[in-house]
Amino acid sequence: MRHTGFGTFFVPGPTEVRRVVLEAMTKPMIPHRSEEFEALFTRLQSGLGTVFGTQRPAYIVAASATGFMESAVRCAPPGRILCLVNGAFSERFARIAEACGREVDRFEVSWGKTHDPETLDDHLSRREYRAITVAHSETSTGALNPVRTISDVAHERGALCLIDSVSGLGGTELRFDDWRLDYVLTGSQKALALPPGLAIAVASEEFVRLAGQAPARGVYFDIVELEKYVRDGQVPSTPPISLLYGLEVQLEAMTAEGIANRWRRHADMASATQAWLARMRAGEDGWQTIAPLDAQSPTVSTIRLPSRLVGDAFVSAVAANGIRVGAGYGKLRDTTFRIGHMGDHTVSTLARCLDACERAAVP
Ligand SMILES: *Cc1c(COP(=O)(O)O)cnc(C)c1O
Repeated sequence: MRHTGFGTFFVPGPTEVRRVVLEAMTKPMIPHRSEEFEALFTRLQSGLGTVFGTQRPAYIVAASATGFMESAVRCAPPGRILCLVNGAFSERFARIAEACGREVDRFEVSWGKTHDPETLDDHLSRREYRAITVAHSETSTGALNPVRTISDVAHERGALCLIDSVSGLGGTELRFDDWRLDYVLTGSQKALALPPGLAIAVASEEFVRLAGQAPARGVYFDIVELEKYVRDGQVPSTPPISLLYGLEVQLEAMTAEGIANRWRRHADMASATQAWLARMRAGEDGWQTIAPLDAQSPTVSTIRLPSRLVGDAFVSAVAANGIRVGAGYGKLRDTTFRIGHMGDHTVSTLARCLDACERAAVP
């Protein structure tokens, strides 16, 4: 397995991290109750505001993204929750809601598909829901849900919308304030291209107010508590300072690139993948994303293999060519593989990945 330079690692989480980011993380510690920390935290808030498209503060904790999925559910005000399921991660959101003792209904569509706002409206008209959960970019299938419309439909029916944008945020359009969103969470190791370990979320003022009614928010993931501290440039418990150094470098790079340019770069990578697939499927079955074209996520492609190839063996054959791609997820493990074209990858690093896949597929 060679790992020379940038552009060999296309797993859809964790994603490849640039050397300058890794190096920033070797800086010495600072006390987290200090002016230095408050200054760092304030700079992070400004960069995250750009990435989320918000004036609201972002909560940052040491956890994988699942931590804030649990937080979203625990902090949502009492009432029934409708969980939109279309893959492994949105299924996890439903499981978390159930495990937190909430009354949950699942609205499931087949993996690879997205949720249609009209059908959602119909579901929401049949029963009263306090909140819905949805995955923006469903990383197991590469399907992109229309979260803006979904959130609007939920609001019209009096429900809050809890959005998992772990592989969406930073790689595809999301505008927290303009779209009047309630709660959006992400993790560091997907489209933000940082090492794993940070969960980041933004909640609306209204959501924080309503969270006050939730009886069992716990302590660590309580957004009412996080909100109190964030206002003073602080955090309730010891933050992962090294990861925050990395985040600072990454936010500077994202701001310099321009968030809309970043979204465009991801869309270009998804298009390049589709163009390659069109060529690959000439004369052979498979080589198709399982998400339809109009719902394909710009950050991750889940690709059906031809029947002669098996998931794990194919992923190993690609690795032998010096490139890591992702195995299929859950029940899609044998029949698909995944390319995480997100974070700091470009159409040209992706071309190397597609070439390695093509060579691995030669019978
Ligand atoms: C990776 C991922 C998660 C889980 O993130 P962890 O950091 O592993 O907890 C949740 N949702 C989506 C859409 C993801 O891609």
